[in-house]
Amino acid sequence: MSSQRQFTISRTLEPSLEPPKTSWTHWTRSSRQALKAGIEKKRDNGSQNVGYTMNALRERVLFKHISCVFRQFTTASFYATMALRKAPAKRKAASSPQPDAIDSKKAKTETKSSKANGSRQHHPMADEAERNGIVIRKYYPPEMSNQRARAYTTGDIPRPIEDLQAALEETANERRGVKVKNAVVHWFKMDLRHTDNRALALASEKAKEAGVPLIGMYLVSPQDYEAHLRSPPRVDFMFRTLEVLKADLARLDIPLYVETVEQRKKIPDRILELLEEWGANHLYANMEYEVDELRRETHLVRDLSENGKVFEVVHDTCIVPPGELTSGSGKQYAVYSPWFRAWVAHIHENLDLLELFDPPGKNPDDARKQFVTLFDCPIPDLPKNKSLDDEEKKRYRSFWPCGEHEALKRLDKFCEEKISGYAAGRNIPSSNGVSNISVHLAAGTLSARTAVRTARDRNKTKKLNAGNEGITTWISEVAWRDFYKHVLATAPHVCMNKPYKPEYSNIQWSYDQDHFKAWCDGKTGFPIVDAAMRQLNHIGYMHNRCRMIVASFLAKDLLIDWRMGERYFMEHLIDGDFASNNGGWGFSASVGVDPQPYFRIFNPLLQSEKFDPEGEYIRKWLPELKDVKGKAIHEPYSRGAGGIAKKNGYPEPIVEHKKVRDKALSAYKEGLAVEK
Ligand SMILES: Cc1cc2nc3c(=O)[nH]c(=O)nc-3n(C[C@H](O)[C@H](O)[C@H](O)COP(=O)(O)OP(=O)(O)OC[C@H]3O[C@@H](n4cnc5c(N)ncnc54)[C@H](O)[C@@H]3O)c2cc1C
Repeated sequence: MSSQRQFTISRTLEPSLEPPKTSWTHWTRSSRQALKAGIEKKRDNGSQNVGYTMNALRERVLFKHISCVFRQFTTASFYATMALRKAPAKRKAASSPQPDAIDSKKAKTETKSSKANGSRQHHPMADEAERNGIVIRKYYPPEMSNQRARAYTTGDIPRPIEDLQAALEETANERRGVKVKNAVVHWFKMDLRHTDNRALALASEKAKEAGVPLIGMYLVSPQDYEAHLRSPPRVDFMFRTLEVLKADLARLDIPLYVETVEQRKKIPDRILELLEEWGANHLYANMEYEVDELRRETHLVRDLSENGKVFEVVHDTCIVPPGELTSGSGKQYAVYSPWFRAWVAHIHENLDLLELFDPPGKNPDDARKQFVTLFDCPIPDLPKNKSLDDEEKKRYRSFWPCGEHEALKRLDKFCEEKISGYAAGRNIPSSNGVSNISVHLAAGTLSARTAVRTARDRNKTKKLNAGNEGITTWISEVAWRDFYKHVLATAPHVCMNKPYKPEYSNIQWSYDQDHFKAWCDGKTGFPIVDAAMRQLNHIGYMHNRCRMIVASFLAKDLLIDWRMGERYFMEHLIDGDFASNNGGWGFSASVGVDPQPYFRIFNPLLQSEKFDPEGEYIRKWLPELKDVKGKAIHEPYSRGAGGIAKKNGYPEPIVEHKKVRDKALSAYKEGLAVEK
């Protein structure tokens, strides 16, 4: 390895540096080797003059951190290269902090051609989307044209993640020179845990090096909860978790400061004020890939840099960060199977991706004196727009105990008792053969890294795709989560109410409110659909098989705009996660990435007979049908159980599957013909 490269490497203790000269992939591989070699060499020499060679343990921790910095850096380089290629050469310091202004302010970074060819026109059916609550106009512009959506995938409009990476690159020099002041701050968002939390570990390391306290911060943003359709049980889960987190941090003499910021536009300014107040120059956070967050973080990186401060935003939530896997043609994979093979191979080549991060160290003794008021900071009540009544609170709390200790307990129990049977049992909603950890992955009380690492360590091999079938199948399911986040980062229009394939916007959907209400309430007369919707309405969760069945039913049997279902899910799921939800809806409604082909239409009756053969799941969630015997449970009105069903108020089917199936096929065909 050249000394030049080793020098570069030794400077990578700080995240986000300038891009390397070599190609992204090559550089990643060779630099990792260089890094390993460098550390080994220092170990061999017994060198004492570099902090991270002081002892073996510290080396290991630092190696982990450095490798992660590498991951961020190399991914950053990839996006930055793309951004620099596609974006105008000179970028002004962000003057558009408001995520609300998503489309209008973004015009500044667009190419002339995209403006000239009219991509800023709205989609012809934008009014429909607005009237039906799909686009929340209080926060967002009308539905964009298909042409504009495509411009995000072709790169004619820079992706928000590219803008963020560009901001990190452009400010790298300034940020590198900033000295640590009185404290270092970690901003908790969707990472409500203190173990295996990358940005928190980096923040702790920074604070330790300078001998100053680490402060944890969480900002409550009722407007964000509204704009992002957070369900009340999900917000409640987060608030309960904050108590757990606060206690865990307090044991390390680290305060958790929680404040409500009523107007989300004011978050960046408020952060700057808080940093000033605490005398902190360094802020750390894990990256979120939704558009609003990426744009806010981009602004904050620049804004803090202009104010002599540092905002480090690092990859953490995916096991493999978005941007690291590209197909042979250099693009994001649009099909899961080859992507998954690449994902597995990449992890096998970079086993440090499954190295867990240590929790933060204890704060210096005087931290409690120095920041006494922060330690007294209470966790507020649920915001008014996401409140729950007492009965609901009790119900959700009994189904979904919160916090990272509970998450780890649940994960261990699943791995101990159920994972081996996962491949066989995962599709049977009544069998409880799944892990039920999505709520923890969504709130960040568990990292995907810990989940996969724990499962892998149960296997007799270190390979993610070999050995116990239950374990490999489960890992491949967790990988779907990474897949959809990668899609979100590369195709950001999915986060702006457009389908992955924009031409699917042209389908003439129905907005029949009676049908939609019947679906929401679990009163369609299709027992498997209704049972699933009742499960969702009661506990904020639905089995994956049932999510596919009800989503397909809404889009293809009722022909209702799938985005209304997507929204309903987000507003009711305790595990609501934008990328997974959008991906699941895109798959089921055949409008997403690697979707079910549109002509494959689930038959709800066959699904019911196959996956709930004894009707246990249906009887559990539909009390009206609990006395229906045998196979009539799947279709009471045409199998001789109409009397019981009617007496108990269970409705007859609101549509005839065979008829609506043909209607759906025509609607999809006609919609897709519009742009041919
Ligand atoms: C229409 C639809 C909407 C969905 N909405 C969400 C959502 O808002 N939030 C969410 O976390 N998942 C969503 N999913 C994916 C999946 O249904 C849930 O992750 C799963 O049911 C959670 O239960 P579990 O934790 O027991 O999963 P397990 O079967 O034990 O799987 C383990 C983990 O793997 C991940 N996973 C499994 N399947 C998928 C998948 N198809 N896509 C993405 N990740 C997956 C999840 O993180 C899950 O917790 C949706 C799927 C569909 C079809």
